Amino acid sequence: MKCNICPRECDIDREKSKGFCGMGEKPVVARASLHMWEEPCISGTRGSGTVFFSGCNLKCIFCQNHEISHGGIGKEMSIMELAGIFLSLQDKGAHNINLVTPSHFVPAIKEALDLARAAWETEGHEGRRERPEYEGWRDKSSVPLAFVPVQRTCPSVPPFPATFVPPVSVQRGGQSNCPAAPVPNFVTQPRPLDIPVVYNTNGYDSLNSLKMLDGSIDIYLPDLKYISPEVSKEYSGAKDYFDKASKAILEMHRQVGMSEFDESGLMTRGMIIRHLVLPGHTAETLRVLEWISENLPKDINVSLMSQYTPCYKACGHPVLGRGLTRYEYEKVTYKFAKLGLNGFVQDRESASEQYIPDFNQE
Ligand code: SF4
Repeated sequence: MKCNICPRECDIDREKSKGFCGMGEKPVVARASLHMWEEPCISGTRGSGTVFFSGCNLKCIFCQNHEISHGGIGKEMSIMELAGIFLSLQDKGAHNINLVTPSHFVPAIKEALDLARAAWETEGHEGRRERPEYEGWRDKSSVPLAFVPVQRTCPSVPPFPATFVPPVSVQRGGQSNCPAAPVPNFVTQPRPLDIPVVYNTNGYDSLNSLKMLDGSIDIYLPDLKYISPEVSKEYSGAKDYFDKASKAILEMHRQVGMSEFDESGLMTRGMIIRHLVLPGHTAETLRVLEWISENLPKDINVSLMSQYTPCYKACGHPVLGRGLTRYEYEKVTYKFAKLGLNGFVQDRESASEQYIPDFNQE
């Protein structure tokens, strides 16, 4: 079947060739592990069960995960193996399954989720399903899913903050997400997948693929990177980014509604919109925040990521080759407060390469 899953609409057969995302039909995973560096209401105390998919339908020149998004490292696997990874993360105590850069694998992900959730529906009866497994997982303490050495040439932006500053409204939920904090040894009984599923996306999703996921995703975690077509074309190779991402975000909100939290402050349903502030482009940030404020309910959760550090092709770039100034940081956080937005703001001082997952180690 021809692939038109995402807004690129390559219209190619991914069994025979690869489109813009650089991936064939089968899911390719670069890493799966318990991850402590998301927002506190996602990471909690035991970690978010992140599954990093290889390839990407954007080509951001400042990508922190460029080894897997552009370099294509990772392991190709079956639907059954992917479902096995979801279940193994749950067994390890993950608060949720966090699908990172999933847009180009939506059909496979949907199938794997259905399989993992239905794994033992008919247990004890004739014809019951086998538990999905990922071979090679269980004999190691961590998840052996990164295979290719990574060369970093410059400091990278952390995937998510060491510290959060609640700017206006009280930051809802969760414990400290300090990466140094030990993850408690917590293993659950094997059971069908019943923890929330997080769709952690760059925002460049098509309405058709999101409709395919309706009812399968509990929490949407989309980026809203830019408003201007010129900027999105220059930095991510997608002139229509805002047109597609804004429609996708409205559809995501339609599906999951306002955020819900459990008694310990973990998010169980809803949406957090993320925005990375780029140096020299605070005007874009102000427009993004205004769009959110004007088009979504006031208490929507927004995560303002303010600790940009040059990475990948942004090293030495005339505009993106530096971090934010204090003035830029204060300008965007002031706007966040002025609009009365709710959510999280990264502490500008906490930028460090230590927060980048090492794809050699796990
Ligand atoms: S997922 Fe998107 S980028 Fe990848 S082949 Fe399909 S349409 Fe093209």
